[in-house]
Amino acid sequence: MQKINKNKLKEIALERIKILFREAKLNPEKANRYVELARKIGMKVNLSIPKEYKRKYCKHCNNYFILGNYRVRTRNKMIVYYCLNCKKYMKFKIQKSL
Ligand SMILES: [Zn+2]
Repeated sequence: MQKINKNKLKEIALERIKILFREAKLNPEKANRYVELARKIGMKVNLSIPKEYKRKYCKHCNNYFILGNYRVRTRNKMIVYYCLNCKKYMKFKIQKSL
């Protein structure tokens, strides 16, 4: 049996995650399901969700952030996201490159 290269597997997973987030953006009514799937794929191959997507959903309830279902505040050099769906907070460090 041919062994699949681990890096190759991660590459495929990343590609699928990207597709899912693209689809989530286009289909807001299915977005939360896509986020859930993307996270599951990442977990399977031990791959974390890329930084650029991490701020697009709630890590507590997989709620894909669209206008009106979250709030953003800055505090103490941190960006604080407040999810209106599960009423929880997520904090990120402010990055100059973003
Ligand atoms: Zn939430």
